[in-house]
Amino acid sequence: MGPCPHEKNLFPVKPLAERTDDLRQSDIRAITQMVNAVDGINLGQGICDLPTPLPIKEAAKGAIDDNHAIYSHYAGIQGLREAILRKVQTYNHIPATSPDEIMVSVGSTGAFVSAMFALLEPGDEVILFEPFYGYHRNLLQLVNARLVFVPTQPPDWGIDFDALEAAITPRTKAVIINTPGNPSGKVWSQAELEELLVLLQEYDLYAITDEIYEYMLYDGRTHVSLASLPGAYERTITLSGLSKTYNMTGWRMGYAVAPAPLCEKMGLLNDLFFICAPTPLQHGAAAAFAMDDTYFGELQATYDQRRDLLCSTLGRIGFDVPWPQGAYYTFASFAPLASQRAGFEDARSACETLIQEAGVATVPGHSFFADPTDGRYFLRFCFAKEMPVLEQACAKLLAAFG
Ligand code: GLN
Repeated sequence: MGPCPHEKNLFPVKPLAERTDDLRQSDIRAITQMVNAVDGINLGQGICDLPTPLPIKEAAKGAIDDNHAIYSHYAGIQGLREAILRKVQTYNHIPATSPDEIMVSVGSTGAFVSAMFALLEPGDEVILFEPFYGYHRNLLQLVNARLVFVPTQPPDWGIDFDALEAAITPRTKAVIINTPGNPSGKVWSQAELEELLVLLQEYDLYAITDEIYEYMLYDGRTHVSLASLPGAYERTITLSGLSKTYNMTGWRMGYAVAPAPLCEKMGLLNDLFFICAPTPLQHGAAAAFAMDDTYFGELQATYDQRRDLLCSTLGRIGFDVPWPQGAYYTFASFAPLASQRAGFEDARSACETLIQEAGVATVPGHSFFADPTDGRYFLRFCFAKEMPVLEQACAKLLAAFG
């Protein structure tokens, strides 16, 4: 982390760009380093260390052997874009009709960057629900968007539409949706999305919707894409990717779906930033879409089991646990422990206590709020782990705090 050059004048030359002043390593990454140093179990960063399915790995290896080594089209290889098109038509019910409406990028983060640059002028207001995924907030700040936060509350993290409408001004350009949500696990219902759409239409706003956790859904919930609602597609950029669904976070395979003229501009921006997503890995990614649908049932069972174990363990320790509706995080409050135990005064101390006493890493709650005090009693736990590792983490938590 360290001091930034503006503060300490570390470099005997002109200062770096002002936009770097507030940049710090994210807590998500810093915690990974802390827990690796003590050889602990990382339930912090949403790494997802389950195995990548074999057909995907074989296809990527084949593509490397076949010398698919040159740049691809800036929006991705045709076969992958066609496969994604079929997927978004059938799973997401998005009314896209051509691969020209699909752009493959370097992770859904790459797609998010292209979306921001396509839509936003400096000073445009963007609405973000709290708790938010920190990378959304930090990237939006980098393009000088003016952020307007709308809070949501546990256990359901429901949307207060009056507060949302009150947050809209003539300068509002876009609303950021994340369903299922990181860190809250909130899954937007069809009714909520319909209510949102009324506001988007009334005030002529765009939505950028990050749906990277779209296959992890609990208690019979279904995933609804905003872009599937009649009248929504023309003002919606849908982001997703293969990282979480196929356990390949380091491959950086993400994509955006948007109407062709908008998608074309995002593709041109993607070209400037990245030229293209890595070509041989795109060939691997295409194989994911040829896999049997039984994969998703198995994936769901995998996460049901892990959610049950982690949430019930945290409940036994005395955490207040809003069981997530989707995604693979538990965003739990340790407020009941704060007055009873030393080391649980705030999120940073609780995070350190868990690392020191149980060897288990989490992400402190303040990373997900504009005002850090709003997150002071929360920790985010990731349960995308191999079962024996998660069992060991839960056993260590129980031994230390049970
Ligand atoms: N999306 C994952 C998380 O929230 C990982 C992203 C990251 O490492 N920045 O932990």
